[in-house]
Amino acid sequence: MTDGSQIIRLFDKASESLKWPHFTFHLDDGSKIKFKRLSNKTRYPGSIIITNGKSFGHPDQRILGYIHLNGSVILNEMPDQLEIQIWLIITDPVEKIAINGMRYNHCCFCGIELTDRRSVEHGYGPICAEKWGLPWDNVALTVEDENALLKSIRQKD
Ligand SMILES: [Zn+2]
Repeated sequence: MTDGSQIIRLFDKASESLKWPHFTFHLDDGSKIKFKRLSNKTRYPGSIIITNGKSFGHPDQRILGYIHLNGSVILNEMPDQLEIQIWLIITDPVEKIAINGMRYNHCCFCGIELTDRRSVEHGYGPICAEKWGLPWDNVALTVEDENALLKSIRQKD
């Protein structure tokens, strides 16, 4: 059964080091899907709110749904294609985050452009990988990487 427990686990990990954990998916039509943890002062403390990426109070903000701490997913009425996208993310968030980052060349978590080769290959950066508990493999170094590494090591002497 598909539920939101994978998303909750990701946010639980991120909450150890981040006060306002969130990540944002960029869609082909320019719209966004944002997942954000709600604070303890809200109606659903710790739940994940899913929006179109507009900030709270913005007239165009749309609340697409919620993922509650027990993993239950409550989605509002929306176009079928958008609902399918959200379910795909909820089913396999880590892979979808990586693919979205690779596709748009920006980290879904912090929004920075992915420039170095390893970040591009992962679809997110090393700092966000650590904060969210995501894989960060040792991608083999090229000759250029090794030279740059040696240079930086030697500069410290
Ligand atoms: Zn990042």
